[in-house]
Amino acid sequence: MSLTWMAVITFVILHMSVFATTIYLQRSITHRGLQLHPIVAVLMHLELLLFTGIIPRQWAAVHRKHHHHSDEAGDPHSPRVLGMWTVLFGNYFLYKKQANNPATVRKYTPDYRPDVIEPPTNVYPKLQHPCRTRHFHADVWLGVGSNGMGRADGCVRIAELVHQQLVPHDRIPEF
Ligand SMILES: [Zn+2]
Repeated sequence: MSLTWMAVITFVILHMSVFATTIYLQRSITHRGLQLHPIVAVLMHLELLLFTGIIPRQWAAVHRKHHHHSDEAGDPHSPRVLGMWTVLFGNYFLYKKQANNPATVRKYTPDYRPDVIEPPTNVYPKLQHPCRTRHFHADVWLGVGSNGMGRADGCVRIAELVHQQLVPHDRIPEF
């Protein structure tokens, strides 16, 4: 796989994840301002499952908490409260801390309804946390043979890293 193809694949994966985040996670799941066709919603959920490992209910809980406490104590990722550098470089850990807090998830998403690709909650998190599991699925999905596996995995990881830093604290404009 050439460098050009790696860049193209990374760019496409990153942008699919960005669209799934802003349309599905933010507009539809979190703010309920948009009702997607169930097939579109499932496809976006699948994209996020394969390429980011994000669990929609966790993301919605963290984002609702952010809106509840915007730039005041309790905001999970406020540069004003926590400092710009902490949020800029530690956003992944700030997000994980809140996403893995069952109290936060329960409090902010009592209305969440799992879809057809979401296994029971006692199984789903175990699929997420060995990071390789989802990357392996992504590689298989890309149809990559053993020679290209490492490079395709690199594309997925780069796209995921950029997505993790950009998305959870609203660097992507709400439109
Ligand atoms: Zn929002």
